Amino acid sequence: MLRFKSVSTHFVLVASIAVAGSLATRTAYAKPVPTPQSVLGFEPTSDRTIADWPQITNYFAQLDATSDRVKVQEIGKSTLVKPLIVAFISAPENIRNLEKYRRINQKLADPRMVNSPEELQGLLKEGKTIVSISCSIHSTEIVASQMSINLAYQLATARDAETEEMLKNTILLLIPSPNPDGVDIVANWYRKNLGTKYETTSPPELYHHYAGHDNNRDWFMLSLKETQSITRFFWQQWFPEIVYDVHQQGANGSRFILPPFFDPANPRIAPLILREAGLMGYKMASDLEAANIAGVATNSTYDTWWHGGFRGTPYFHNSIGILSEAASASLMSPLTITRERLERGTKVRGLDSPLETATNFPNAWQGGTWGPRDIARIEMISSRALLQMASKFRLRYLTNFYELGKSNLLPQSKDPQGFVVYADPAKKETTARFLEILMGQGMEIHRIEQDTEMYLGGETTGTASKVPAGSFVVFTSQPQRNNVLSLFEKQTYPNRLKPSGEAEVPYDVAGWTLPLQMNIDTASVWKLGTTPAAMVKLTDINQARQSLGLSPQTEPFAKLPNPLKTAPKIGLYKSFTGSMDEGWTRLVLDTHQIPFTSVSDSDFRAAKLDYDAVIIPSMSEKSIVDGLDADRYPAQFAGGLGEKGVDNLREYVEKGGKLICFDSSCDFAINRFKLPVKDVLKGVKSSEFYNPGSVVRLDVDTSNPLAKSFKAQTPAYFIDSAAFDISDPTKVKSVAKYADKDALLSGWMMGEKYVNGKTALAEAEYGKGKIVLFAFRPQHRSQTYGTFPFIFNALEK
Ligand SMILES: [Zn+2]
Repeated sequence: MLRFKSVSTHFVLVASIAVAGSLATRTAYAKPVPTPQSVLGFEPTSDRTIADWPQITNYFAQLDATSDRVKVQEIGKSTLVKPLIVAFISAPENIRNLEKYRRINQKLADPRMVNSPEELQGLLKEGKTIVSISCSIHSTEIVASQMSINLAYQLATARDAETEEMLKNTILLLIPSPNPDGVDIVANWYRKNLGTKYETTSPPELYHHYAGHDNNRDWFMLSLKETQSITRFFWQQWFPEIVYDVHQQGANGSRFILPPFFDPANPRIAPLILREAGLMGYKMASDLEAANIAGVATNSTYDTWWHGGFRGTPYFHNSIGILSEAASASLMSPLTITRERLERGTKVRGLDSPLETATNFPNAWQGGTWGPRDIARIEMISSRALLQMASKFRLRYLTNFYELGKSNLLPQSKDPQGFVVYADPAKKETTARFLEILMGQGMEIHRIEQDTEMYLGGETTGTASKVPAGSFVVFTSQPQRNNVLSLFEKQTYPNRLKPSGEAEVPYDVAGWTLPLQMNIDTASVWKLGTTPAAMVKLTDINQARQSLGLSPQTEPFAKLPNPLKTAPKIGLYKSFTGSMDEGWTRLVLDTHQIPFTSVSDSDFRAAKLDYDAVIIPSMSEKSIVDGLDADRYPAQFAGGLGEKGVDNLREYVEKGGKLICFDSSCDFAINRFKLPVKDVLKGVKSSEFYNPGSVVRLDVDTSNPLAKSFKAQTPAYFIDSAAFDISDPTKVKSVAKYADKDALLSGWMMGEKYVNGKTALAEAEYGKGKIVLFAFRPQHRSQTYGTFPFIFNALEK
């Protein structure tokens, strides 16, 4: 077990804090701070070395034990129950008084806690800039997790004036990785294959148990243990003014990407935040140029439209989110990048070629060898640049942070004053989960205690309406006002087209409105009635659960009751290609305590398909049938279902089995089962039709058992999805269609006429069995609680 100095008894919420390490060790520090080499036996970030999670946490425990500048805290457990750690790094006097500085920052985060101008002056004078650096959330982007050891050692031991000043003015919350499980998955795979022809491959599994790469798509939803713990640590405890999220990109483009970011910007991000992110990026880029590092790009590729990533979410908490993307090596093995490879390099937004210079890319890298040391060097320089800024402009950062929070408390006539969340008895559990997701981010929620009149709905004034007792209200006059608005409002993505007329692909999805994804009834509040509403501020999710008539939960985000009336035997296809859609499906089933079995390629090939229902998550036909390439992966992981597996699946359905396909995998079923169904969007150019991720409206045939519990219209998630024409309605029933008009509810959809009235959910007869075709994504990133019941209905025997 890891032993860390106790941070503070205040953190009673934190599940497990190692309390070992006595007061005596805190003042003594008899032993010198060990070098990483002396502990690990190699220098981190050197070629073909990798420290796994036990080694990383062990090194940090040694820093904790030997340095008065470092304290390590466990803030939770990962999905696979590994310790999730944060290292506090600062000057010794700050480390001894962490709780004091945490309280100062908490007050600056919520100006209502500051009682006088004098108190504010005191807080601003004494406070430290709270900075978080988080490494390798994406585990194959592994170098930063290794670099974090070197960064921590350097900050713990350097005696130069610049470092000492940085440590005095800032408190660094260093997260060696927010995905410990993935560090081990990658380390184990890399070590096993080092020196073989598989050395440069990625692991044949998701590097986050449920989400894989999508673990950076959960930061407003909190479906994953890691996001739950870090969100609580950030936005209920420490409120970092600056959050730096360290990533890697592909190998063949620029060497490094920094803010300012590309367009479009989310209109709910405070302009000052965008400016500060740009300023920080330029400082980092400038320091890299001064160190003669070529290939650094700003204002490229990544926009700030989408809400839910590690560096995006801080904007909605008045904090500066910074993302960097270093060109990758092959895990920890160096690469040779020729000019030809760079010429073929991916064309990205804001950068025509990695070989040509431009104002946002003044020093093109011309090729050569590229390894983990190159990546680590860049990341060390950029991390120090960030800390220097945080130190030199400490007062400015704290003042801006406070002022942004304060301005969010003032009423804005153009925006709603809040949102009513109705307590629909048919959706108790989903309503409670929705409220818990908001409270988990530190959002304030009130419960209305008696029927109250408010002006609701519409765009500006609303109409007088009665809000029933037991409803909830989320007011916008709170420090994270922009978070409230961005999660409740409909998104309207600006049409952005290339000169060819084709859509310019956004960084992530275009719309995410949470009440629509979860199908929760809400209304905007424009004016309160004349009689003040009696209301109670919720301090615990169990207060909401109780008033919804639910039993209290014993742990945060507890599992939900199994919604199935029958007990079908369920098989879920799990490919070695690592399908994120499979992982999210697994999470939805696990969250609802629905038993299932993962079915592998070899199970399909051996006809081990003894299930009532088999689910194939959203994957391409090629990926399902061919799987991983046998030239690149050992035989046990290579090949997909193969023709044999496809035949066996066909026989399984013919004999009475049920096959359920999500989104892209419908294409597989339509082709391989020769269904009388056509995806009308196939081959349509993005200048004609485009929807990269939006909420759309479905018209539902409520008489069909698959639509049990649904109303005639319901929101659903479309993400580069499909739309069906059915040529033989005697064999295939349409259960839900995209609305005949005004189908877009939130996001971006060009050429809507292509999908209007087309089938979104179909049920095909096949032999004695059935095939359920979801053209859309009913379990998108475990966010679309509104359409989960379609899946549950499809699974019933
Ligand atoms: Zn990444």
